[in-house]
Amino acid sequence: MDIKFESAFLKAIKKHSSIKQSVKKKVDMIIENPVAVGEPLKGNWQGFYSCAVKRNFIIIYLYCAVCRKKKDNTVVLCSDCKGTEDETLKFVLLGPHDKAYGI
Ligand SMILES: [Zn+2]
Repeated sequence: MDIKFESAFLKAIKKHSSIKQSVKKKVDMIIENPVAVGEPLKGNWQGFYSCAVKRNFIIIYLYCAVCRKKKDNTVVLCSDCKGTEDETLKFVLLGPHDKAYGI
């Protein structure tokens, strides 16, 4: 599994350092089983997955094997999808539920 962290995600971890450990635990779980742990998003976020760290605080990520299968790589911001392995995980965003969606 190839793991990538977007800069917005890393910035958010710094900002919410109090829950860093919980985030890390969730990230490990997602890496183990990206499809089972997360929930596929719809609408504007089609192709993305979300996973709650705790109540109302979520991780948003992409799993390239899935973005390709659904042809979502043309929809989502998975710009370098063509150059990545199927087994690539991209951690995109982290934050309170409503704010994470509000970009
Ligand atoms: Zn992709």
